[in-house]
Amino acid sequence: MQIEHDAAERMTRSHMLMDEARKFMPGGVNSPVRAFGSAKVDAPFIRRAEGAYLFDEDGKSYIDYVLSWGPMIVGHAHPHVVEAVQRAAQRGTSYGAPTRGEIELAKRITEIVPSVEMLRLVNSGTEATMSAVRLARGATGRDKIIKFVGCYHGHGDCFLIDAGSGLATHGVPSSPGVPKATAQDTLTCPYNDLPAVDALLGANVGKVAAIIVEPVAGNMGCVLPQAGYLQGLRERCDRSGALLIFDEVMTGFRVGAQSAQGSFDIRPDLTTLGKVIGGGLPVGAYGGRCDLMQQVSPVGPIYQAGTLSGNPLAVAAGLATLELLYEDDPPFDRLAASCDALADGLMSRARAAGVPLCVPHIGSMGGIFFAETAPRNFAEASKADTERYYQFHAAMLGRGVYLAPSPFEAFFLSAAHGQDEIERTLAAAGQCFDELRG
Ligand code: PMP
Repeated sequence: MQIEHDAAERMTRSHMLMDEARKFMPGGVNSPVRAFGSAKVDAPFIRRAEGAYLFDEDGKSYIDYVLSWGPMIVGHAHPHVVEAVQRAAQRGTSYGAPTRGEIELAKRITEIVPSVEMLRLVNSGTEATMSAVRLARGATGRDKIIKFVGCYHGHGDCFLIDAGSGLATHGVPSSPGVPKATAQDTLTCPYNDLPAVDALLGANVGKVAAIIVEPVAGNMGCVLPQAGYLQGLRERCDRSGALLIFDEVMTGFRVGAQSAQGSFDIRPDLTTLGKVIGGGLPVGAYGGRCDLMQQVSPVGPIYQAGTLSGNPLAVAAGLATLELLYEDDPPFDRLAASCDALADGLMSRARAAGVPLCVPHIGSMGGIFFAETAPRNFAEASKADTERYYQFHAAMLGRGVYLAPSPFEAFFLSAAHGQDEIERTLAAAGQCFDELRG
């Protein structure tokens, strides 16, 4: 199936806006994947969003499975979140001084995420992971880290090596601009492969500060940890003196009510968070064992700071989101049931059309692989039929379903996605699978 850009399509507002945007921002965007680089369709410019829906500049609406890449778990523009942000804005947008809201958000997170005893709020997931690694290095006096091929931990220098996500979409293993010396301190091995971790630890005795891992990998599509894998990492950290960092920027509050560490019952030393805890505003956090967090400035010597960290608007949006998630009627079971229904429905429709498809999923996130079996690592994820994914993506977008424009990204559900949205998505998918086969 070939999507042709005919003259009428070229005249869409989104197309014209992208032409204009490219003059002022690299690729017209402020984050690469938004450019729809390898996709077969133009990126819609979004005008507004509500509940499970995006509305573009051309007046089209989409059921949204990207959800701002994860944060919008209660749905877009939830009145409770909007009102909290409005009220906060009226009190001033930033003070650069301590506020009560920061205590509330920090306390709430420590109550919810099992291993987090104390935390520091930052402004993005990238800041959280960079700071957690600095803390691990400072606390252990070691320089090297182990990360897994296809895991993405933001765009800090030490993580841009075999980093999945946007880099995988654009076919670059590592970014130019990362100093060789930095790259040398990042050891990589395949996900779900404990012997490979043993080999790295064996060759670097006493040198590894931390193993950082996405407990469910969401940046090579969605790849689940195999039984015993996360426990195996915990044991190897205990034996080697390395700290275990769970990067839960994506999995936090998504994989389950207690995040991935609760679902898999593993306690990392440090955890990084983002996305959901900002309710759609820029927030990240890193936290963990008290004795480690007490080494962060100003109590300890490990420096980390931020002009807008703990910003009152972002904190208000995060708190309002967590209130919706944890008070009255927590949606986690419903979210997981919707995700099961979506995944099962996609697979049965694909099977009916004779199209090989796997939809590994957990909680309210999942991945779509045109493959016979669910991948266990990045190499296997890369072997799925990516060309088919791009065709599927374009066909679904044409039918009003907004999926990630890359097979190396996950999909997400929100509490606003009801049965109607799932059914309409499945109906569209059924038609698309038939087209793909044809
Ligand atoms: N870690 C993980 C697991 C992520 O998925 C992401 C972003 N998708 C990041 C870190 C970086 O977060 P941010 O884009 O907020 O810097």
